[in-house]
Amino acid sequence: MRHFAIVGSGPAGFYTAEALAKAYGAGAAIDLIDKLPVPYGLIRFGVAPDHQSIKAVSRRYEQVAESEGVRFIGNVAVGEAVSVDQLLGLYDAVVLATGAPHDRALGIAGENLPGVVGSAAFVGWYNGHPDFADLDPPLDGEAAVVIGNGNVALDVARILSKTRDEFAGADIVNHAIDALDHSRLRTITLLGRRGPHQIAMTPKELGELGHLAAASPEVDPGDLPDEGADAALEPGMRKSVAHLRGFVAPDAARPKRIVFDFFARPVRIEGEGRAERVIVERTRLDGARAVGTGEEYAVPARLVVSCIGYAAPPIGGVPYDQTGGRYANEEGRIADRLFAVGWARRGPSGTIGTNRPDGQEVAAQIAAAMPEGSDGGKAGHEGLAALLGARGVHPTSFDDWRTIEAAEVAAARAGAPREKFVRHTDWLSLLGR
Ligand code: NAP
Repeated sequence: MRHFAIVGSGPAGFYTAEALAKAYGAGAAIDLIDKLPVPYGLIRFGVAPDHQSIKAVSRRYEQVAESEGVRFIGNVAVGEAVSVDQLLGLYDAVVLATGAPHDRALGIAGENLPGVVGSAAFVGWYNGHPDFADLDPPLDGEAAVVIGNGNVALDVARILSKTRDEFAGADIVNHAIDALDHSRLRTITLLGRRGPHQIAMTPKELGELGHLAAASPEVDPGDLPDEGADAALEPGMRKSVAHLRGFVAPDAARPKRIVFDFFARPVRIEGEGRAERVIVERTRLDGARAVGTGEEYAVPARLVVSCIGYAAPPIGGVPYDQTGGRYANEEGRIADRLFAVGWARRGPSGTIGTNRPDGQEVAAQIAAAMPEGSDGGKAGHEGLAALLGARGVHPTSFDDWRTIEAAEVAAARAGAPREKFVRHTDWLSLLGR
């Protein structure tokens, strides 16, 4: 029997568990450990609540969780309740699938002013992550700035713009929908430090901005390259840029504006005790690189959301690549019997499906080193249960998640799939603990 621990129950963790279960059949016990009492990581806490079709992939993960040899162990923070070294003592291999839940810093003056939040915090707030339930982002001003030109920036701008009715069928949590309903926001400015041909936004997500009930996207035609230059773009990017070209004639009848401000690099955030404006330097392109022109201007904002990428959480004893925001690894291998998959391995890029080959590759490496039918003499789950018991840590199981899920479905607003329970105490009291 082989014993494997996977740390993190988001997409990368589940794809790895699926691949290991396939490689070993009944010859392996696979523990999917999560610090939260509930599974699915990015699917539950990252994917936008109005993108339910993307979240549907959790049905596949559910089948993995219920397959032979796989066990979900929630409410166990690796690095706190148990160390990676201890896991290596208990399991034949340990795979870090933590994702990249930390915000990268902007590195500019004023970024710690009240009103400046990272996208992990802001997205976590509207998605019911317990760490951000009390974020209370300031929605009392008329202007917000979203920094970055990736899909997360689009998610944030869209969520800030939607009306209550447009959230029908979404699992946005009640505290967020109520706060957004009372928002005074009128202008959301998306700052891109480079130009329309350098965006990291995909066409479907960009196209959604054109169909909002109360908001209209705006692009300054002067920022767009000559149309002929679009021919050299790869097809997806060409479609995205076509959407931007469609945004040059905003609909003045809609009360909110989503303004694309290209060639705009934030240099500092200013305000009396809270964010009031972002000071931006106009840039120009030198090849694909943005260089400053020295020209500065102010963009008003009481709320600033930086959507500039994420980093994996450093864990004691695990080598870390600061630049990449991930664990230092070579093709997924960090050290003897210790691996990383998904964003923990590659850094925060790619779609959910990109994590599948990662998991398969690492499972193949493990299976090559520890052939099916071999036994490493490790204690596995029994050893972990004893260690956690001695520390007074009470893990949750997949059956516990089923109980929570049923209660969330029962509590849903009309038309919504669920109303998420947000706090540890809510989850654990529901389980009678
Ligand atoms: P991302 O795609 O890497 O975009 C980050 C953006 O931040 C880029 O526009 C980047 O500009 C900008 N940026 C970085 N540092 C900056 C700085 N110091 N100042 C100003 N701008 C800065 O990251 P993301 O949006 O967080 O998305 C992460 C991954 O999740 C991506 O693969 C994304 O496609 C995926 N995702 C997908 C969906 C979906 O499919 N619906 C939704 C959300 C996220 P430069 O290009 O100039 O560096």
